[in-house]
Amino acid sequence: MINVVQPSLGERELSAIREVFESNWVGRGTKVEEFQEGFARHIGVGKDHVLSVNSCTEATFLAMELADIGPGDEVVLPTICFVGVANAIASRGARPVFCDVDRRTLNPTVADIEAVLTPRTKAVAILHYGGYPGDVVQIAALCKERGIQLIEDAAVSVASTVDGKPCGTFGDFGVWSFDYGKIVVTVDGGMLYVRDPELAARAPKLAYFGLEQTSGYNEALRSSTRWWEFQVSSFSRRSISNDVLAAVGSVQLDRLPGFIERRAEIAAHYDRELAGVDALHQPPPLPEGHTTSHYMYWIQLDDGIRDDVARDLYARGIYTTFRYAQLHKVKAYGADVRLPQSDAASASTLLLPIHQGLSDADVERIVGAVRDSVSERREQGRLSASPVRKAA
Ligand SMILES: *Cc1c(COP(=O)(O)O)cnc(C)c1O
Repeated sequence: MINVVQPSLGERELSAIREVFESNWVGRGTKVEEFQEGFARHIGVGKDHVLSVNSCTEATFLAMELADIGPGDEVVLPTICFVGVANAIASRGARPVFCDVDRRTLNPTVADIEAVLTPRTKAVAILHYGGYPGDVVQIAALCKERGIQLIEDAAVSVASTVDGKPCGTFGDFGVWSFDYGKIVVTVDGGMLYVRDPELAARAPKLAYFGLEQTSGYNEALRSSTRWWEFQVSSFSRRSISNDVLAAVGSVQLDRLPGFIERRAEIAAHYDRELAGVDALHQPPPLPEGHTTSHYMYWIQLDDGIRDDVARDLYARGIYTTFRYAQLHKVKAYGADVRLPQSDAASASTLLLPIHQGLSDADVERIVGAVRDSVSERREQGRLSASPVRKAA
């Protein structure tokens, strides 16, 4: 089965893990520091503004806490968004307010966001669909003008930029994911970016039980002669990363440009070979100055044939899916809104496999299967819808 996502983990990652094992220290240490420094360089921010954590979801929960989201607050997010973001909002006692998205890019436009702002809006959380930056520049400007905090879920846009500025750094907080299905993979892991220096200094404490003291192991960092005693400044959890995962992350970050290059080739192949297929829409062209991480390649299918095409491809050994199922339809969030553009996108969008492990032959096989399925299913659709023509 050809999967939609797949990590590229190999000998370099294994030897990085071996090195950590042999050091006899697998907890949070120098490898985490190195990974944070490398990632901060990658997104062009100071190293004290990033924190390596155990998942992107955890980073999102931390961001909502640092943003002081609480009961009575509203946080706007697109309905086509990752479930963990809505949970992070709701877990603070705040209300997730879902907005519509552009039907073709599946990103919220600045107008979609603006339409649902109220005096209670304390923050806006957006993601970059499939790696496309979307209206992030305009949305960041709107938030700044209204005094609203912006949280960017950059989980799938680790190499996406607008005019050279990395996604995840336009707002007050950015979060990235390195789970098994992302581009940079540490098996599990995430990164948090915090723009405000004071909040950035609080983040590591929030991520480790709210402890005020550091370990006494390093004499230079000892704060007292009884280093085992402590105070807590918040009732926090344990969200930190470790040297094993961080060592893998540094290798993956080094390999990232190669990953993106291959993904861009595959996207270009799809662009070329699926152009002009009847009833099939491709992702819109990227606006000038935007780059994408090519995390997803999505097609949109007319005539209600999307589900059938997904089944046909599955039968031919090609797994496809749709992300992200609309959150305003999830009962627990208690939303009662109509979001027609995202309804249309959700009914027609299919994600094709795109990852650096795909061979040219794989991509050709996928293209052939999509073409076959679309033409067969359309033919069937036409026949069942118009019996007159069938008789003729
Ligand atoms: C994967 C993903 C997450 C969650 O990442 P974890 O590291 O698994 O917690 C969040 N947002 C988006 C858009 C994702 O794709």
